[in-house]
Amino acid sequence: MGNSFVHLHVHSEYSLLDGLARLPDLCTYAQESGMKALALTDHGQMYGMIRFHRAAQNAGIKPIYGCEVYQSPRRLYQKEPKIDSKAYHLVLLAKNKVGYGNLLKLVTTANLEGFYYRPRIDKELLAEHAEGLICLSACISGLIPSLVINGQMDRARQEIGWYKELFGADNFFIELQRHAGVPELERVNPQLVALAQEEPSPVPFVVTNTSVGGSATAICTNTIANIVNPTYRLILHLL
Ligand SMILES: [Zn+2]
Repeated sequence: MGNSFVHLHVHSEYSLLDGLARLPDLCTYAQESGMKALALTDHGQMYGMIRFHRAAQNAGIKPIYGCEVYQSPRRLYQKEPKIDSKAYHLVLLAKNKVGYGNLLKLVTTANLEGFYYRPRIDKELLAEHAEGLICLSACISGLIPSLVINGQMDRARQEIGWYKELFGADNFFIELQRHAGVPELERVNPQLVALAQEEPSPVPFVVTNTSVGGSATAICTNTIANIVNPTYRLILHLL
């Protein structure tokens, strides 16, 4: 059996202060590592997509176009200090041309109408443009992991049901990550597994890790963390 591993959660240098990996290097490294494909999920925008497409073609791997979008806690046009400043993460991957078009619409609206600290979508907008997309529950800053951290298991259960209903059973995955600098994940992962396995309608998993390929300096600039602090990656995704 060949290597079927593919990175599905990747930030390039187009994730400002959140990643520094250059797209040609990323694609070459993926190809050399035996990956047949690679996803690009920059934060909140898709500026790198054309370069990613070309770099993937040059490297001979399949590009998977995606985005780790920000999701507002209320409607995207609500922008009250403190209440709306926290945005959840959500990973979207285009499955086909319709999905790619929907991703463009979501990201455009997030930047033009939903911008409040971050370009944000909301659930209503997502529901209008979900066709052709695969959805992953994201890192520890996703809505579902955040609810688990807060002990809101019923709410997490409801949200899993909502995403599964919207995207379809084959297109929504609970994302599991393990980062050395994110000890909370060791507590959250078993609870995510338990939630996702609940009958009568279990949800599949996907194992990822937030790949930033960046330097500690850039990430610390974003996170206001100390470069000698080994938890800087944790802080990165708690923003
Ligand atoms: Zn994230």
